[in-house]
Amino acid sequence: MKRRDLVRLAGGAACGLAMGRLPGAGIVGGGLAGEPAGEALAGGPAGGPLPLADADHRGQEARRGLLAPRRSPFFISQGGGRVRCDLCPHSCVLAPGERGRCRVRENRDGRGYTLVHGNPCTVQLEPVERKPFYHVFPGSRSFSVATAGCNLECGFCEVWDTALVAPEDVYAFDLPADAIVPLAQQAGARSVAYTLGEPVAYFEYMAAIGARAREAGLLSLVHSAGFINAAPLERLCAVIDGANIDLKSFDPSFYRRVCGGELGPVLETLTTLRSAGVHLEVTNIVIPGLNDDVGMIREMCAWVVEELGRDTPLHFSRFYPLYRLANLPPTPVSTLDRARAAALESGLRHVYVAKVPGHEGEDTFCHGCGRVVISRVGFMIEAVELDDGRCRFCNAAIAGIWD
Ligand code: SF4
Repeated sequence: MKRRDLVRLAGGAACGLAMGRLPGAGIVGGGLAGEPAGEALAGGPAGGPLPLADADHRGQEARRGLLAPRRSPFFISQGGGRVRCDLCPHSCVLAPGERGRCRVRENRDGRGYTLVHGNPCTVQLEPVERKPFYHVFPGSRSFSVATAGCNLECGFCEVWDTALVAPEDVYAFDLPADAIVPLAQQAGARSVAYTLGEPVAYFEYMAAIGARAREAGLLSLVHSAGFINAAPLERLCAVIDGANIDLKSFDPSFYRRVCGGELGPVLETLTTLRSAGVHLEVTNIVIPGLNDDVGMIREMCAWVVEELGRDTPLHFSRFYPLYRLANLPPTPVSTLDRARAAALESGLRHVYVAKVPGHEGEDTFCHGCGRVVISRVGFMIEAVELDDGRCRFCNAAIAGIWD
């Protein structure tokens, strides 16, 4: 029996564990089949040590309430001690002592500060597939960092216990940007991933790490909701290599009601990343009764084809009940099948289904000959049939960042 069949038999009950985030716990699956899965580090809501073999940081304990206030360049004085933040479309105007909606930016005595620079609450070594990037160095490890804070407020947030809280409420490490690249290299990572939280919240930290990673030859991969203003995004494009942007719905009212944001800026982020030549993948979580209308999904896919191109990988992610939407059922697999069929009919070449173990939508199919060119089981790679990014069977070029 093939591993894929075993995974299918294990069924969806295990999926929440296999695909979900377990702060401070081990990674389940991942990497190349037969290799160690990787290493999960502590922090987040649980605390614990940073078990890396680095003289400066070995054994560092995560500390609760760690704050590292640092001036942020995104604040503009509004007079009377008030400042406005221009990092994201919320444009928070803050009086002295007030914090922005992201919970990690503050007006201190008339000056704007970020509170999380160099204080990640999550530090993990993971398969790049878990980020999720399916078209970047398959089977490689990614060194993931995240801090507290998020500028959206999604009712289905999978990391609400670190992202939707203030930095005082999590355990964090003291890891300046200079420390991250050596740690990532030592851990055997090929990329640094800004994920498991919202990287816009810790933009300055991400940009500082990204500059160092580029010098060192590591990729920088961002998984974000993409709710950011144009000017900082353009700055970011200069130091990142790949982005997976959550396009949570194609319905503006969904963004307002369920996420506390707006659809328009997210679409602008996607087109900006495409124009800048950043490798781009898109994730759409499908939630029963909220954003699962196949007509809307068709519209979204048509937009992706038109504006981003048919080679853009699209991941349909299964919803599991949690946080404020714990009353909803998991997404039926039949709904995800319909979404995937609509996306393929629209002309998209690489359409994935995430968090359904054993689904054929885990694999990458060649658009030239239809053969499987990357075979996956969850986060594990079973086989890669690419040479220099080309299909071994028909020589068609597959978009992505490959060896
Ligand atoms: S980044 Fe934070 S403080 Fe700045 S505008 Fe957005 S929510 Fe407000």
